[in-house]
Amino acid sequence: MNELRNIHRGKVYLVGAGPGDPDLITVKGSKALEQADVIVYDRLINPELLALTTEESEHIYVGKTPGKPSVSQEQINTILIAKAKSGKMVVRLKGGDPFVFGRGGEECEELKANDISYEVIPGISSALAAPSFAGIPITHRKAGRSFTVVTGHTITGSDTFKNWGHLAYADTLVVLMGVRNLGAISAELIEHGRDGGTPVAVIERATYESQKVVYGNLENIKEKASETSPPATIVIGELAAMCNDLSWFKELKQEYTETTQEAQLLTNYAV
Ligand code: SAH
Repeated sequence: MNELRNIHRGKVYLVGAGPGDPDLITVKGSKALEQADVIVYDRLINPELLALTTEESEHIYVGKTPGKPSVSQEQINTILIAKAKSGKMVVRLKGGDPFVFGRGGEECEELKANDISYEVIPGISSALAAPSFAGIPITHRKAGRSFTVVTGHTITGSDTFKNWGHLAYADTLVVLMGVRNLGAISAELIEHGRDGGTPVAVIERATYESQKVVYGNLENIKEKASETSPPATIVIGELAAMCNDLSWFKELKQEYTETTQEAQLLTNYAV
């Protein structure tokens, strides 16, 4: 891997950046960043990761900027192809995992069609990291032997949700991109037979220090989470209730704040 840049000139690496905490990128992903000539990155990646790159590397932001037209998928493909064709080692850095609602598949198809070699370096998807950091095991022998991950973006007016009836019976349902449709999602699940009292946790900015978890049930979560803004991951099912017992990350943050406050007090006292 150390020789990546020389061996793999003209190649694109689709790298999963993980959910936010920069330490959650894989070792292989961080090595690719260190070696890259060009980094093409999205809005949801933690910009701290760019510190791993060399000073000479070129950084191209292709996420949405408020008030500016967003870069289209075709434009992104064109950039990747042009940079690779000019002999650069390109890292396409994406939030979470590139193949989980990340259009990684489309980009690979396009690269293949243009004879560009590519590699995929998986990342920790927020679908897994958000429940972990909220203290929700998404499987547990007592209450869930399967989990389902869906997008909540296209809930209404789309064929994608033809099988919504099945989703109502998923052991643990993990919804990405669902915050704006939280009310519709809950209503749909109840309509298809899920109990209104089913636990729901909404995890905002998972793995960041600013992480927030709102807990409720299908009936009241829309109201309870009205202040939540994206990015957030929704976990629905009996196991979501475990965030009340196993909130290890929240406790860690509290402990850390208390220790720093104590240290501050001691320093003040010493002076
Ligand atoms: N490829 C990404 C998902 C991209 S879709 C992955 O594997 O994680 C974007 C959605 O991911 C957001 O709308 C949100 O639902 C979720 N998401 C991304 N980062 C998140 C974070 N730090 N906390 C909670 N949810 C997050």
